[in-house]
Amino acid sequence: MADQLTVAVLGTGIMGAGMARNLCRAGHDVRVWNRTPAKAEPLAADGAHVAGTPAEAVTGADVVLTMLYDGPAALEVMEAAGPALRPGAFWLQSTTAGVEAVASMADLARQQGLVFIDAPVLGTKAPAESGELMVLAAGPEEAHAPLAPVLDAIGRHTVWLGEDAASGPATRLKLVCNSWVLVVNHGTAEALSLAKGLGVDPQHFLEAISGPLDCGYMRTKSAAILNDDYAPSFSVTTAGKDARLIVQAGADAGVRMDLAAAGAERFHRAEAQGHGDEDMAASYFASFDN
Ligand code: NAP
Repeated sequence: MADQLTVAVLGTGIMGAGMARNLCRAGHDVRVWNRTPAKAEPLAADGAHVAGTPAEAVTGADVVLTMLYDGPAALEVMEAAGPALRPGAFWLQSTTAGVEAVASMADLARQQGLVFIDAPVLGTKAPAESGELMVLAAGPEEAHAPLAPVLDAIGRHTVWLGEDAASGPATRLKLVCNSWVLVVNHGTAEALSLAKGLGVDPQHFLEAISGPLDCGYMRTKSAAILNDDYAPSFSVTTAGKDARLIVQAGADAGVRMDLAAAGAERFHRAEAQGHGDEDMAASYFASFDN
């Protein structure tokens, strides 16, 4: 297969738009579709063909990349793409969908004659835009080489986790990583809200934990909170969806995920306060009654 591929990107939200742009930059023939067309249209300036339907986007595609909100959305969109899919094409599935949905997607891929690769990503808006994502992938060995030009365009590294995508080894690792990411986010938000409540200067907190207690991600999220800048890299609503997937995956495996469950509650409260579309650092507001 050639290095320049025809790639359909379904879902051009925070993450998908950056990924599509990098695929254009790498010289691929890129078709984009988004439910809300206004989020796909700017990609025309990068050379992408903006399609009106999922079916139009996937027609003739070698690779279909899904970057949608959740498993049900990805299944719905791929069913809509249905007859236009080329048998033998690769379905590179990057939505954070959860273990159960990945099995359903693998099943749909089999019915549609697609080669299914579960490929959730680590990294947020900025790495998506700079092509520096960490891709966690599972799928048949025969897909690794042909997909390399696509994976190289969107990520700095791909971790291959075996051939059996349907059992979800990549998604399992993604959920483990996100359980930690969400705890750091909430821990930062809670420490800064306690600092506010106790009249502690937040800069003193940041100074006091410099050294072994420090954490780069904590610095990113504390900067968002202290600068009152909640432009979304990873929205409260989407992070809440991930928290619920983590709690469910833990429950199915007999593992109590107390912090993830408490974090899901914080996201729920922040959403009810009107912060759903803001960055998940807005978990901060869940510490206060108004
Ligand atoms: P986003 O900006 O909210 O994008 C979500 C996309 O899903 C949008 O294109 C949205 O379309 C579409 N969508 C939602 N429901 C749909 C439906 N029923 N039918 C068709 N399309 C639907 O979120 P994002 O941050 O890019 O996240 C996308 C995925 O990547 C999620 O699974 C998320 O967990 C995962 N992820 C996110 C990050 C991050 O830091 N942001 C990092 C790693 C992985 P509309 O524009 O019409 O709403």
